[in-house]
Amino acid sequence: MKGTNKMKRIVILGAAESGVGAAVLAQKEGFDVFVTDMGTIKPHYKEMLDGHGIAWEEGRHTEEQVLNADEIIKSPGIPDTAAMVVKVKAAGIPIISEIEFAGRYTDAKMICITGSNGKTTTTSLIYHIFKQAGYDVGLAGNIGRSLALQVAEDPHAYYVIELSSFQLDNMYDFRANIAVLLNITPDHLDRYHNSMQEYADAKMRILQNQTSDDAFVFWNDDPVITRELAKYHIESRMCPFSIIKKEGMIGYIADGEYVIERPTPFNMEQEELALTGKHNLYNSLAAGIAADLSGISNEVIRQSLSDFEGVEHRLEYVCRVHGVTFINDSKATNVDACWYALESMTQPTILILGGLDKGNDYNQIKDLVQQKCKGLVYLGVDNRKLHDFFDPLGLPVAETHSMKDCVEACYKMASPGDTILLSPCCASFDLFKNMEDRGEQFKALARSL
Ligand code: ADP
Repeated sequence: MKGTNKMKRIVILGAAESGVGAAVLAQKEGFDVFVTDMGTIKPHYKEMLDGHGIAWEEGRHTEEQVLNADEIIKSPGIPDTAAMVVKVKAAGIPIISEIEFAGRYTDAKMICITGSNGKTTTTSLIYHIFKQAGYDVGLAGNIGRSLALQVAEDPHAYYVIELSSFQLDNMYDFRANIAVLLNITPDHLDRYHNSMQEYADAKMRILQNQTSDDAFVFWNDDPVITRELAKYHIESRMCPFSIIKKEGMIGYIADGEYVIERPTPFNMEQEELALTGKHNLYNSLAAGIAADLSGISNEVIRQSLSDFEGVEHRLEYVCRVHGVTFINDSKATNVDACWYALESMTQPTILILGGLDKGNDYNQIKDLVQQKCKGLVYLGVDNRKLHDFFDPLGLPVAETHSMKDCVEACYKMASPGDTILLSPCCASFDLFKNMEDRGEQFKALARSL
């Protein structure tokens, strides 16, 4: 075990998956633990805390109970501008993330995936390959159960971990044995003082503490990544990939073949890949390289890349009704993700856009909308920005404020042979509980047409 320097009191801000997992691990490691959440804690998390005899509060942060901590574990959902975080910082108490904390108590191999888009898909695909290979592996980070809980109660030899920039923000000593960086495009800039540089700095933290025994897998064609890399001295083994065969690439696509050159040469037909769309070539390359580096056989990699079922709400085929295809890409909460969805469309498309805009610049998808779309349906409480930007393109548009009206409007616009694509570029919280709720309503309504 790596954990040595035990402190006395650990306070955890935020009692959801990561916070409660961190609490259970901290309790197990003998700390004095207190959990506090400004909102209401879900019943099953309360049960877990009570079951472990961990003290907690909800609906407030009691200052005296927080500012006496030796270390704070903060949920990635809580911004640095939250009043209690500001006070904790002023008091000089160190703040870490749950992943940083859990990393102290395991010697497992860590395969960590970050990027603006494609994290969940790539993480799930890597996990799928490792599982098929029979490895003792856990899935953690933004998906599955928290790393801390698994380290405490169900330890594994490998973890495949999806890391958001918010988790990376509070990571210092954690070391990724294989770090995967998919891309860096604008997202969440509201949490980074609208600074693309600050956001990029957070993503590059995935490299910190890597040694020459570790590997860094990255998309070589991303201009932000290559610009940032020039600023770092990198110890780890560099594993760039591209969709074009180029000097120095570890993985690429050439003449319809998916190729990994090193460490174990591997190739398969691009057509055999389960995931479609250009973005998924990057994700499949990153996953295959991570698996190859981990000693997984070509046979298992080939089989897994071709039988992976994909992840819900990511370019997910829903159904075909009277020749009209429905695709659910509710997870496309930024413009870049929508760009890739549109890029992969092969039929005239009716695109559903809208929700809470995180400072979108729609210029990025303007050309593709003109090329691929035959109509646009806006779905949000406030659709003004969409009208202002897209109406001048002259496509048929419809304005809707519920998924029911939206699906009906789309269906009315569609003819057999068209695709209706929900890839809204925006967060869902204006009309839906979350992006899953948005995607589920879309699917249910489409199926009941
Ligand atoms: P994340 O976990 O990073 O949000 P997901 O795998 O959930 O990523 O995918 C989010 C959205 O981005 C989906 O709409 C998906 O189709 C799109 N996407 C997936 N991979 C990529 C990629 N490599 N580049 C750009 N967009 C992608």
